[in-house]
Amino acid sequence: MSDAFAGGFGAVAAAAGAGFREQIDAFLARELTDELRAAADRNITMFVHPHSGLAWQRKLRAAGWLAPHWPRAYGGAEWSREQIFTFERLAGLAGAPLLPPFGLNYLGPALIAYGSERQKAELLPRILAGDDYWCQGYSEPAAGSDLAAVQCAARLDGEHYIVSGTKLWTTHAQHANRIFCLVRTSKEDRPHRGISLLLIDLDDPAVTVRPIITLDGEHEVNQIFFDDARVPRANLVGREGQGWEIALYILERERGGFIMGGRLRRKLYGLRQLLAASVGKDSTAGQRRHDYERALALLDIDLQAFEYSELRLLEAWAGGRPAGLEASVAKIDIADLVQRMDELAVQVLGPRAIAAAAPVAPHAVRTYLANRAVSIYGGSSEIQRTLVARSLLGA
Ligand SMILES: Cc1cc2nc3c(=O)[nH]c(=O)nc-3n(C[C@H](O)[C@H](O)[C@H](O)COP(=O)(O)OP(=O)(O)OC[C@H]3O[C@@H](n4cnc5c(N)ncnc54)[C@H](O)[C@@H]3O)c2cc1C
Repeated sequence: MSDAFAGGFGAVAAAAGAGFREQIDAFLARELTDELRAAADRNITMFVHPHSGLAWQRKLRAAGWLAPHWPRAYGGAEWSREQIFTFERLAGLAGAPLLPPFGLNYLGPALIAYGSERQKAELLPRILAGDDYWCQGYSEPAAGSDLAAVQCAARLDGEHYIVSGTKLWTTHAQHANRIFCLVRTSKEDRPHRGISLLLIDLDDPAVTVRPIITLDGEHEVNQIFFDDARVPRANLVGREGQGWEIALYILERERGGFIMGGRLRRKLYGLRQLLAASVGKDSTAGQRRHDYERALALLDIDLQAFEYSELRLLEAWAGGRPAGLEASVAKIDIADLVQRMDELAVQVLGPRAIAAAAPVAPHAVRTYLANRAVSIYGGSSEIQRTLVARSLLGA
């Protein structure tokens, strides 16, 4: 693998501080076992299985490097943008698993910004320790792109909310013990005004989690049914009716929170190896091989542009600025890069992709199918393009 910081990123690694890169290299050499790396490589989606995700989380926590974007006061590492970028690049290139994002990247920062002191004191340490595994309950059968149409209802009854309704496409609900959920607490003239964010225990007998098996054969998403679940009033995050604002805060972190440059670069190296190993096969003959090499070069250039976008995003967050625009751009780019790479792998393999026997890309077709969803979840690419256009053109 060529230098990890080629392409003008050496200055970023240097700005991370003297010896920082060496510290990370030593940590990865010591802690990133072949078993963990193999588990990460086997994972065909962006959501790592909790078994390896939590194992990696525990190692980072022991080093004091978990939640680099959280303030130290709440147990985070409070790293600079250069340190976050440098770590993610090295860990991604080395094949480290991604971390479970729901608590660390989505709910945790929202609790720090909007939660009660009691919620912060109780829940943030449990997120860091991996004691709670959260999932995200936004989408419903008739509320996906149009989240303001959420119908799942929470009616106040004394010191409890009574929750009834359903949530759809809930990633990893089968592993989770808790869900942060957008619920309708009132019917207002403008629908987004009546939405609140509620924290709900999934082991409540009034909650049912039903699996959904997707086209790739995986069980990653679920539908959840709430049948008059009683949820303590203290589990409301922020104020009643503030759910929309908090949901957008979380969505920004969901769309931009995967710092993926290093991982995508590892995937690109894998594709280069795949092409090299496939020379002479029918699917890589003549003009087709030339086209694949051109596609790889374009991916390399676009990936580098994406990595600069990641730095802009991290800079906005480090400065405490909202980064909705940068996060939408990152989300569009990740989906585009991942899907182009997966498509290329299937084309290079040709019929061998179905046989799933290729040594470099053994899960090519399943990965291709699984990652069709990257341009859908967290807000589809069509919606992100509209948000970017509105933001840039003021439309
Ligand atoms: C694998 C996977 C995991 C997911 N995980 C979660 C999760 O953990 N938690 C959760 O809450 N949700 C999750 N989702 C749901 C996801 O966020 C929604 O699927 C997504 O927001 C799109 O909503 P929808 O499916 O209702 O499609 P729709 O909103 O019906 O959209 C259908 C199509 O129409 C297009 N479209 C809709 N409105 C417009 C418009 N105004 N302009 C242009 N095009 C438009 C969309 O881009 C899309 O192509 C997941 C989805 C998938 C596939």
